[in-house]
Amino acid sequence: MQASDTKIAFVGLGLMGVPMAKNLLKAGYQIAGFDLNQEVAAKFLDDKGFQFVSSPEQAIQDANLTILMLPDSAIIDALLWGSNGSTGIASQLRKNSYLIDMSSSSPISSKENNHNLEKLGIKFIDAPVSGGVKKAIDGSLAIIVGGKKEYFAEVHPLLECMGKSIVHVGDAGAAHAVKALNNYVSAAGLIAASEALNAAKKFGLDPHVVNQVFNASTGRNNTTENKVENFMLNDAFNSGFSLALMRKDVQIALNFIENMNCYANLAKQCVLTAKEADEKLGKGADHTAMFDYVRSAAL
Ligand code: NAD
Repeated sequence: MQASDTKIAFVGLGLMGVPMAKNLLKAGYQIAGFDLNQEVAAKFLDDKGFQFVSSPEQAIQDANLTILMLPDSAIIDALLWGSNGSTGIASQLRKNSYLIDMSSSSPISSKENNHNLEKLGIKFIDAPVSGGVKKAIDGSLAIIVGGKKEYFAEVHPLLECMGKSIVHVGDAGAAHAVKALNNYVSAAGLIAASEALNAAKKFGLDPHVVNQVFNASTGRNNTTENKVENFMLNDAFNSGFSLALMRKDVQIALNFIENMNCYANLAKQCVLTAKEADEKLGKGADHTAMFDYVRSAAL
């Protein structure tokens, strides 16, 4: 799909949605954007080709492609199919248009959404991203894609404006499954590193040195390499990915693993720890503040 013949509706302009939309604008795409938080409109004042509209219905009016970058499947399902008496936008999407859900959604909901959207003549793709705000800004996200191969080929040029590694993993819902499992493995690494560094410090060790050893040894993971020094040991806790979203992701992964009738002991513990930390630290806490929670919860 070329920028000149693609009109995009972009719903969900939060920490990730804003930089992703900006990269599409830079490539020449036209965007009608909507977010419940109207203050985000101010972030696009200098961007040509962007119009902030006052409802999702207005955003999709002329769109031949809709991108969702929303918190979770409950919000997406309500937006598509309605809730509390409202009808939802699914029936108003243009026939033969694309709907790309780039949020980290539930694979089970996405499979169902694909099935129901297909009946309406809408081409569904799940394309969750990995890499965080920094990579969203420089357009180097890892994008995991699920859906028909021909749809993937069509939208590939557009995804390339936002990401570097773009991998098709299977049918609709497959990418959301891979994304949830990835985030579970990542969260397990975060919790393990937080517990280990806290105990090391109590023993009188320097956690900076301990983390250096981890990074030169088999305990190395994304947390030890990228988060411990930048966001955790300095008490900054500002990576740009909330604890609430991490909690949602591990819950999706646990549901998925259990749905597959597979062993999920560690996933259950991660869900429990994420829930406890989220409730203790409150709204707005960054996921790297898991270290703060572990520290304060120490016996
Ligand atoms: P965010 O909370 O910053 O943004 C979500 C936006 O959606 C907010 O601006 C909110 O106002 C808006 N919103 C909520 N309900 C809405 C509705 N019904 N209609 C319109 N707008 C609505 O979240 P984020 O960090 O940008 O994450 C978005 C998605 O991307 C999530 O699924 C998250 O798990 C995933 N993700 C985030 C990161 C990250 O590092 N932040 C990385 C990869 C994936």
